Amino acid sequence: MKILFFGPNGSGKGTQGSIIKDKYGIPHIETGVIFRENITGGTDLGKKAKGYIDRGELVPDNITIPMILARLQEDDCKGGWILDGFPRNLTQAQELDKALKDLDITLDIVIEMILDRQIAKDRIMGRRLCVNDNNHPNNIFIDAIKPNGDKCQVCGGDLKTRSDDQDEDAIDQRHNIYYDTETGTMAGVNYFKDLSSKNDGIPRIVDLNGQQDLKKVTAELINKLG
Ligand code: ADP
Repeated sequence: MKILFFGPNGSGKGTQGSIIKDKYGIPHIETGVIFRENITGGTDLGKKAKGYIDRGELVPDNITIPMILARLQEDDCKGGWILDGFPRNLTQAQELDKALKDLDITLDIVIEMILDRQIAKDRIMGRRLCVNDNNHPNNIFIDAIKPNGDKCQVCGGDLKTRSDDQDEDAIDQRHNIYYDTETGTMAGVNYFKDLSSKNDGIPRIVDLNGQQDLKKVTAELINKLG
């Protein structure tokens, strides 16, 4: 199963993506996580990416695109993958489509999580990251996943915030890119929708209401994936 997972920053797609990863036993490739690991590890890639990430800008395509295309050709990706955070603009969408065609790989599903911009923004400001697993859901503004004091509500691990999550300008910038239908992420979503309608519904487009609570989103997702 090869899946693209779109959704505004703060929509909770990382959490849902990790559930799909377990369900299908496929790697969950999160661009943002790869960048953050490189920043923490002090690699050259991390040093190049940091400034862009802190400002809420995209890391340039000439860094991001080859990094992801190489990742998709690693051994663990043979049986499928879920891509989360890529593509994030029209160029990335076109380049991904071209690379998949060249590699003779069929994209099966495109998920689009739909969520109002202001709600997504509030969720970002409230989210806390567990040091043991970034996808353990913790949010100080959402009762169902409120941290246990200052610890992770899933495993008791320490929690931290991301610097780009506490900066309103950076959040707005990320959302400007996401909701941009000309060259931004939504242009990428529309690119795949177009492809699907010209190709007998392949990839299958699955929309997902991100406004519901986390468990309901998971239930809708599992139900729609079949
Ligand atoms: P969020 O979805 O909350 O914005 P991510 O963890 O997916 O967070 O991404 C964090 C940052 O990493 C982005 O704001 C951007 O700077 C960078 N990034 C992630 N994916 C891409 C991508 N496909 N192209 C360029 N930059 C990216």
